[in-house]
Amino acid sequence: MKQQLLRNFLDSRTEPVCAYVYDLAHLRRRAERLRQALPPQCSLFYAIKANSDAPILQALLHRTDGFEVASLGEVERVRAIDRSVPIIFGGPGKTDAELEGALQQQVMLIHIESEHQLRRLDWIARRRHQVADVLLRVNPAQLPQDAKATLRMGGEATQFGIDQAQIPAMIELALSLPGIRLKGLHLHAISNNLDAQTHLAVLTHYLTLAETWQQRYQLQFEWLNVGGGIGVNYGVDHAEPQAQFDWERFCNGLAALIATHRPGYKMIFECGRFITADCGYYLAEVTDVKTTHGKHFAILRGGSHHFRLPVSWQHDHPFTVLAREAWPYPFARPAVQDAPITLCGELCTPKDTLARDAHVARLRAGDCVAFLLAGAYGWHISHHDFLSHPHPERVYLDG
Ligand SMILES: *Cc1c(COP(=O)(O)O)cnc(C)c1O
Repeated sequence: MKQQLLRNFLDSRTEPVCAYVYDLAHLRRRAERLRQALPPQCSLFYAIKANSDAPILQALLHRTDGFEVASLGEVERVRAIDRSVPIIFGGPGKTDAELEGALQQQVMLIHIESEHQLRRLDWIARRRHQVADVLLRVNPAQLPQDAKATLRMGGEATQFGIDQAQIPAMIELALSLPGIRLKGLHLHAISNNLDAQTHLAVLTHYLTLAETWQQRYQLQFEWLNVGGGIGVNYGVDHAEPQAQFDWERFCNGLAALIATHRPGYKMIFECGRFITADCGYYLAEVTDVKTTHGKHFAILRGGSHHFRLPVSWQHDHPFTVLAREAWPYPFARPAVQDAPITLCGELCTPKDTLARDAHVARLRAGDCVAFLLAGAYGWHISHHDFLSHPHPERVYLDG
């Protein structure tokens, strides 16, 4: 199915191929499935920084409960496809103009990352004769032991959120400001977590924190935003499909957790990677194959200026080879057979390496490689104009 989709695309092109291909039908099905599995007290938002292309947002518009953004530019991207879909607005560096713009664009919630940000929002909202609905972003004092394996934004010193020790004072301040309505808390402290049990342990901790403060201040929060951070396994064992985060198991555990804690508030998930990674492929044609110092290298029409993810994460990205038979030259085709090969881009830097020593049955100049799981944090985190090569095609297949 997946192979067929890419094959059809490839057969429609004659120039050296360099393209992002997104499968919108798959994306819609995936979002629906993820959302339906969640307990009814939970909303699924899409964190658009993972991939903010209009066709992606359009596909997710009625298949998620809304969008999480972290700049006014992102607010505008969402508003360009829908005037009223719920938006939640985070980020440690919101300027006055962004806070003002967010109020003007009627965002549903603003996540507050510091005392200064809270005071500025109150000041701006009052001037506009508005009241801003906010969640306080908490940097928890600690996280469960298991959560240490993942990338972390909290449970240690970071630029994100408000130190747990300062939350009581911040709750009191928020309650005293006429331009602010406190709706609950926001916790997004881990990223790329692959284990459902670990995620449940982290959420249990979040629920406990929320309960403590609700009791202490006789509050009833309306929302607890438990963040995103559900991971994608980019492992490269080609023999077997990689084990991905077990969403069904997680949702069952979450239902049990909700039954025990009986929180009066609703929960928000704001996932990026887990929603869109699997719907995108980055295709690059092999323009050359060579051997130096006993190692095989394939050079691609493309590279990290289009797809920075493997370099950024320092991993070898999974890919599949799409053979192409056309060969226009009257001389032999450089090829490697049944051997490890390193896939490099067209940039003049040794950092432009997307997979190292990956075993291939055969790879020839003129073949194409398709990097998998490239739908999130691919094109959108890359330095497109470094070395001034042409940009990849960006193709959104549907149906
Ligand atoms: C980036 C981000 C997300 C999404 O993270 P994923 O790992 O893509 O799920 C969610 N919430 C906040 C606050 C973020 O910064």
